[in-house]
Amino acid sequence: MKKIVKSVSEDIVRAVLYIRVSSEEQVKHGYSLQSQRERLIEYCKQQGYQVIEVYVDEGKSARSKLKNRTELLRLIEDAKQHKFDRIVFWRLDRWFRNISDYYKVQEILESNKIDWECSDEEYSTTTSNGRLHLNIKLSIAQNESDQTSDRIKFNFDNMIKNGRAITGSQGVPLGYMVAGEEKNKHVIKNPETEKIAIDMLDYIRKSGSIRQTVLYINNKYDLKICYDSMRHYLMNEKYYGYYRGIENYCEPYITKQEFEEIQSLVRKNVKSNKKYDYIFSGLMKCPLCGCKLAGFRQVTTKPKYNRRYTYPSYRCNHTHNDKLCTYHKYPKESIVEKFVLDNITDEIMKLISDNETIQEKEDTNTKIIDKDKIRLKLSRLTDLYLDGMILREKYDIEFEKLNSLLNESENKEEIKKRDLSQYKQFLKSDGLSIYNQLNNASKRMFWAKYIEYIIQYEDGTFHIELK
Ligand SMILES: [Zn+2]
Repeated sequence: MKKIVKSVSEDIVRAVLYIRVSSEEQVKHGYSLQSQRERLIEYCKQQGYQVIEVYVDEGKSARSKLKNRTELLRLIEDAKQHKFDRIVFWRLDRWFRNISDYYKVQEILESNKIDWECSDEEYSTTTSNGRLHLNIKLSIAQNESDQTSDRIKFNFDNMIKNGRAITGSQGVPLGYMVAGEEKNKHVIKNPETEKIAIDMLDYIRKSGSIRQTVLYINNKYDLKICYDSMRHYLMNEKYYGYYRGIENYCEPYITKQEFEEIQSLVRKNVKSNKKYDYIFSGLMKCPLCGCKLAGFRQVTTKPKYNRRYTYPSYRCNHTHNDKLCTYHKYPKESIVEKFVLDNITDEIMKLISDNETIQEKEDTNTKIIDKDKIRLKLSRLTDLYLDGMILREKYDIEFEKLNSLLNESENKEEIKKRDLSQYKQFLKSDGLSIYNQLNNASKRMFWAKYIEYIIQYEDGTFHIELK
């Protein structure tokens, strides 16, 4: 970093602290606000700086857009008014993880003769080696996939313009295939499925029903196309030869007008029974295919009384729409609700006692040490590269390896440090006492806080999986 040489006669350095912590970091790593603040104040004391202001961006990731980091913006405004001389933060990644934003702000700081310093890392922006080091640190921190995905997108756009395929055959709709030599692949009609595609596009226009078309096609050609895939096929513009702004991208099956006719049919097929709020929508799981069950109104007629009863219930859409699943149970909402209410407290108590036993067994320290070791290796690796001891290829490979190790150990830690506080809170406050006063939407939110999914097996027994 740029040190501004202050003569002895000048006043002491007026420092401000910048603290940033994202919500997940608070939980995951304990990079809490308080510990950063204490560390920084201690540091400034050692350096003899006068701390005149503290800027705290809480719940903001370093990749949040600049305009969303409100405290950082306030800091920049104050910088322009020369309210301080130096910014102190804990580590570079508290400040930026994005090269372009970093330089944008750096320019403002430099023109106002303000510099920055990390309490726990050393940087120098006065030597070219130091700047390279800084850039590498920033690029490591930056989500590299941003750039990669832009590059890929650019290439794809060019390929599409030339009518070239950008996916394999699994990426094109029924009736097409990808063929041609490497680097010159095109989407062409598939002689083996051409007939089926023609039949499908014809049948949907006759029947107007996706469901009917699925059953007809699967039955006639002995296929297992599911409802959602069929729906996706039918919405694919390639059928009239169009793709991402390019006409005549491939040989069409139908005209544009016919395609639009199909689109209006597809839209009509969307079930929009949103009047009733299903309490467990998104929480019920099919025990056979693993899909989320969908809410529907189960109708029972009692001819004796000449009455129809409807019950909010759940069903597997793979059973209902395309017969790819055979789960024929239709759990009624009232029954699921009663079961959950009767059993949730026991489930939560079991979860807490299970977790406490696991935590006692595991030695918490070992993995944290591992993580620090990996971090150390990462920083040594960067040093080696900077010193010209290893080539870029080698650096990339090793970096990738260490980085995935680091992610892995962070994931492990996450599992271990399972946060049970909300469950404990549930038990303490008797979470169910207010339940009956809630409307269905609030009931759903209530359950979604604690429950990952609920299964009712075909024999009628239940399983509740907590988060
Ligand atoms: Zn199913």
